Amino acid sequence: MPGLMRQLRGLGGCANPIRLDGHRTEHAVNTTTGEIGPIVAHVTAADLPAGHLLVRCNNRRTTRCASCAETYRRDTYQLIMAGLEGGKGTPADVATHPRVFATFTAPGFGPVHNRPSSGRCRCGVQHAADAPELGTPLDPETYDYEAAVLWNAHASKIWARFSIYLRREVAKRAGLTQREFADHARVSFGKVAEYQKRGAIHFHAVIRLDGPSGSDAPPPHWATTNLLADAIRAATKAAHVDGPVVDGRAHSFAFGR
Ligand SMILES: [Zn+2]
Ligand SMILES: [Zn+2]
Repeated sequence: MPGLMRQLRGLGGCANPIRLDGHRTEHAVNTTTGEIGPIVAHVTAADLPAGHLLVRCNNRRTTRCASCAETYRRDTYQLIMAGLEGGKGTPADVATHPRVFATFTAPGFGPVHNRPSSGRCRCGVQHAADAPELGTPLDPETYDYEAAVLWNAHASKIWARFSIYLRREVAKRAGLTQREFADHARVSFGKVAEYQKRGAIHFHAVIRLDGPSGSDAPPPHWATTNLLADAIRAATKAAHVDGPVVDGRAHSFAFGR
């Protein structure tokens, strides 16, 4: 039991650990010559108390693993907070830099069951917070599943396009060429991708204007939150990515409103 307890403790409550088979051998290495020396440790997975080497599943979805999803959620919170207030290696001065916390959603693919803050779902029902129908289409016959699936597959490309356009839009508003821009300021991002109830990926991001060397450098005088927010809106509108042609239908992807 003590051996098994030790093994389980390292999983931090993961409900669905990955079971690894095999073995691991560690050798001493002479750091000067690079010569590989004698064996210093050897682990065979089958000899471990659980019969396998267990590692956390690190799934982000509560329905798959409540513990790992919660760890991810808290890590994400710390990451975003550090981008806003400093901490975790980011200087506290970033709190004085122009910064925006923005959410980037997917476009609509058809109405889904939801819980609007005012009133009822479009289906006429006031759904409970944990109702399984939340996020599912009102009309599965007309819901654009194809675009919904492809949007997720293209979400990171749309984001990449957005980040290029954002630098361009900020530089334009500062009256700088893109080449000059790097000598004056840097656009810093902290972003996380999450699934909405309807299964569409959305992004939360802290976007900050720093000095040319990053978070430790004061931003230039023209850098304001309004300028940044305005540039974010323009770059969001401009970010389009062409998708595949499926059964004669050409897909094109952009962020939702
Ligand atoms: Zn887990
Ligand atoms: Zn409904």
